[in-house]
Amino acid sequence: MTLSSDQFAEISAARANASTTLRPSVPALEAMLFTALPVLDHGFVRVVDYMGDDAAVVQAARVSYGRGTRKTTEDEGLIRYLMRHWHSTPFEMCEIKYHIKLPIFVARQWIRHRTANVNEYSARYSILDKEFYIPAPEHLAAQSADNRQGRGEILTGDAAARVLHLLRQDAEQTYAHYEEMLDENGAGLARELARMNLTLNTYTQWYWKTDLHNLFHFLRLRADTHAQYEIRVYAEAMLETVKAWVPLSYAAFCDYRLGAVTFSAKMLEILKQMLTGTEVTQPTSGLSKREWTEMMASLGK
Ligand SMILES: Cc1cc2nc3c(=O)[nH]c(=O)nc-3n(C[C@H](O)[C@H](O)[C@H](O)COP(=O)(O)OP(=O)(O)OC[C@H]3O[C@@H](n4cnc5c(N)ncnc54)[C@H](O)[C@@H]3O)c2cc1C
Repeated sequence: MTLSSDQFAEISAARANASTTLRPSVPALEAMLFTALPVLDHGFVRVVDYMGDDAAVVQAARVSYGRGTRKTTEDEGLIRYLMRHWHSTPFEMCEIKYHIKLPIFVARQWIRHRTANVNEYSARYSILDKEFYIPAPEHLAAQSADNRQGRGEILTGDAAARVLHLLRQDAEQTYAHYEEMLDENGAGLARELARMNLTLNTYTQWYWKTDLHNLFHFLRLRADTHAQYEIRVYAEAMLETVKAWVPLSYAAFCDYRLGAVTFSAKMLEILKQMLTGTEVTQPTSGLSKREWTEMMASLGK
């Protein structure tokens, strides 16, 4: 992670400036507030603000006047009930705002999540830093042979060295040309134009604010093993912040969403037959090969 000493000082100053409030706050999240959790080689995730806590979810669900006096076990039961039955609006009462530094190709996937408020660093106004994502050797994988959207074996030896060389060289070269085109003593090209041939592994930054319901939706998709590694690691860092912020909602989310699987009506019928001892095979199941494999994988077979 690359934070300058000025940026560290700004974060420390923000953390030193405590204020009192009647609003609910969460000590475990306060402990991480403003600090940057490193992700990839130069990226980070940091929480810059939040509103609400587990009690706010419960409060909204009960439409109560105060913070309530019920036991944690009752709150936990209610939160689990809400999550189980997709009663989602109480989770929308909590909001969180992140500052995220990420490669542009990750940002392109991330921005597809429309239910958030985003403000990105302006490369029309400012000059992008010379920072590129270069995968660690253990993440430099070949194209998967059986999954068009996935990775296969890790590259090694000359092939790995060549790829790393090309990634670095191309990024360095386009950045050098970016600087040359911007140079006021040379072409002095506008920043909004000079950026156009930078490589997609160049880092950008944004503020990203969303509510807990939509954050869970994002995390379910992007912390999943089907998501690309480079966005998944951001989702995993964010999961740590959510665990600190709303531990009861987080636990319900892990149980009913992240660790859960969905069976179609047809799959449920097959499962019922298997439980009665009837042998079911892919050809007799009525499922496609792919669906059958996925179902068996989720059953650990
Ligand atoms: C593993 C993976 C692979 C993917 N592959 C591709 C790909 O190959 N190509 C590609 O283009 N995308 C791809 N995506 C992106 C994906 O299709 C979604 O765009 C992305 O995950 C955002 O999901 P979302 O629309 O549910 O989220 P959000 O935009 O946050 O929306 C949340 C929910 O709000 C509702 N909603 C929001 N906006 C609208 C609207 N305008 N109309 C109706 N309902 C709305 C929907 O119910 C939606 O589910 C992939 C995503 C994943 C996780």
